[in-house]
Amino acid sequence: MTLHSAVEEAGTVSVGVEESERRIFRFKVGSFDCVAINDGTFFYTADQYFSNADPHLVTTALVEHRLQRDRIPSPYTCLVVDTGEHVVVVDTGADRAAMRDFLPTGVETDVGRFAEGVDQAGVDVADVDRVIVSHAHPDHIGGNTDAAGAPRFPHARLTIRREEWEYWTSDATLAAQPPAFADPVRKHLLPLADRVELLEEDGEIMPGIRAVHAPGHTPGHMALLIQCDDAELLYISDAALHPLHLEHPDWCTVWEMDPERALGVVPKNVRQ
Ligand SMILES: [Zn+2]
Repeated sequence: MTLHSAVEEAGTVSVGVEESERRIFRFKVGSFDCVAINDGTFFYTADQYFSNADPHLVTTALVEHRLQRDRIPSPYTCLVVDTGEHVVVVDTGADRAAMRDFLPTGVETDVGRFAEGVDQAGVDVADVDRVIVSHAHPDHIGGNTDAAGAPRFPHARLTIRREEWEYWTSDATLAAQPPAFADPVRKHLLPLADRVELLEEDGEIMPGIRAVHAPGHTPGHMALLIQCDDAELLYISDAALHPLHLEHPDWCTVWEMDPERALGVVPKNVRQ
């Protein structure tokens, strides 16, 4: 399983066979059928990913893990959970055009392949009745709509924390944020306003899936606790963006909007 998003496991999670193309990865949480969908891989720099850390310590850690300072891979991972009653999509990958703004000139990325993964997983978009958005960064909402701008999942309600929705869709935020952040909100969130259900607090979204507020990365960033039978999976989304953030919970990225709050979230999630 890739490590960008869905990776804190506890209890008995049975893991299935990895698909040959490695875009999808099937596993079970109790009797829930899950598919982790790889949206592509983006590359970051150490300065972006470990922005508050002592550079010497970062270099040492990177060398230990055989990683380069200027090319740290980040596989983007989305999740589909079939509970038997509901088919739920958690995050929908990147808006590739927006993500290009983060790349040096001439460097390309393959992110934005969520829809391919959905097809490959055999998920019928008409069966999906819920999309849960962990937060509204451009690498988590890009697949909410299709190329024509229509909802990719025509029968799905969209769940997001109220703080997250209100922050990102406000006129003030859209005016203040650079296009790489504001344009995906205009393209992939605002057109779905009539199907949004705003979460006010932690708790059950549907049987077996609970919201866990994990603010700091963004105002309404949330994790999900997925439980079935005796198994559970904590989908941490961007509470930690790299395994080194779990080894060093006091390290954070340049994208934490409230670093102090975000850093309070990581140890809590690790303990769970
Ligand atoms: Zn994020």
